[in-house]
Amino acid sequence: INFRRAAFLTSAPTLEECPEDFGAEVAFAGRSNAGKSSAINALTDNSKLARTSKTPGRTQLINFFSLGEHQRLVDLPGYGYAKVARSMKDEWQRHLAFYLEQRRCLKGLVLLMDIRQPLKEFDLHMLTWAVNAGLPAHILLTKGDKLKNGPANNTRFAVEKALKEQELDRGVTVQVFSATKRKGLDKLEQRLNTWLAL
Ligand code: GDP
Repeated sequence: INFRRAAFLTSAPTLEECPEDFGAEVAFAGRSNAGKSSAINALTDNSKLARTSKTPGRTQLINFFSLGEHQRLVDLPGYGYAKVARSMKDEWQRHLAFYLEQRRCLKGLVLLMDIRQPLKEFDLHMLTWAVNAGLPAHILLTKGDKLKNGPANNTRFAVEKALKEQELDRGVTVQVFSATKRKGLDKLEQRLNTWLAL
């Protein structure tokens, strides 16, 4: 798949407004500031595709990017903005859970977490949903350039171990990633290609 072909398709505030449930799609999720926009921009080689600076508290939308006729990338908003009301977070979580559980064309979840702060509550929620729904997940430990190779790999091992201990490792893979240094793109593309194969 040529990820450079990715083009904005549509925004959907709720699941009812998503594009038709056909073909194959992969969703990207992460806490705000995890580096999700940067990763999508690096993958698609398009610095304007996913906005890198977002306004906290603005309406949360699911963004769909097409990779041709039958395949899509999906940018799920990270919640965790301090300024967003609790009720809005709860409402959003219900939509998110519904999307992850009901969307039949969804083939995998890319979960991004800052390598310096992995496995926060949001991440564990997302992984629990994915594992329970039988949805494979691929974890990007982002901003890998912030650590030297040794500590970065040790973090990866520690995350893998923690997932095993919590029985959240089924179908889950982990890699170090850096959008800034464009490191780990090959591995990410391999995983996406497998999921998006029709
Ligand atoms: P999002 O909220 O998850 O979409 O996160 P962004 O992509 O907007 O990134 C949040 C912040 O982290 C920004 O200041 C980025 O410049 C920075 N950032 C993102 N990816 C990297 C990376 O690979 N390395 C470093 N050093 N900083 C990064």
